[in-house]
Amino acid sequence: MSSSHSAGHSSDARTRLDHVAIAVTSLEDALKFYEEQFGLHCLGIEIVEEQQVRVAKLDVGNTHIELLEPLSADSPVGKFIAQRGAGLHHVCVGVQDISAELAELQGKGTRLIDQQPRIGAGGAKIAFVHPKSTGGVLLELSQPQADADS
Ligand code: ZN
Repeated sequence: MSSSHSAGHSSDARTRLDHVAIAVTSLEDALKFYEEQFGLHCLGIEIVEEQQVRVAKLDVGNTHIELLEPLSADSPVGKFIAQRGAGLHHVCVGVQDISAELAELQGKGTRLIDQQPRIGAGGAKIAFVHPKSTGGVLLELSQPQADADS
């Protein structure tokens, strides 16, 4: 409730690099490199209907790489690949309070794709910040699902 913006966030408000996501045309083809050749462990493959993607989550120690395969050509990732080809799709930073982050960013004039959080892979609350505000890379914020129960 302070009226002035001071230094900003405490450093633990941004908890970690949650994942880096790569758009691919085929999960199986991409996993031949990431899993078989590079030796990463695939933690699982999940379909996220809302975003029309099949996601393979790869363990990289303290963070993850996600491979995103579009379920259809007119899905967001399908369009991304059609326009720019496969490659880096977004970077995701974990946050503790996504609603507060979005409100603050909006107040600072940041261009948001999602004004309100929605539910992403693994039940996390997620929202995207527009590349126009981030130096050209889609930035995802993610607040992990509170482990109430599952
Ligand atoms: Zn993501």
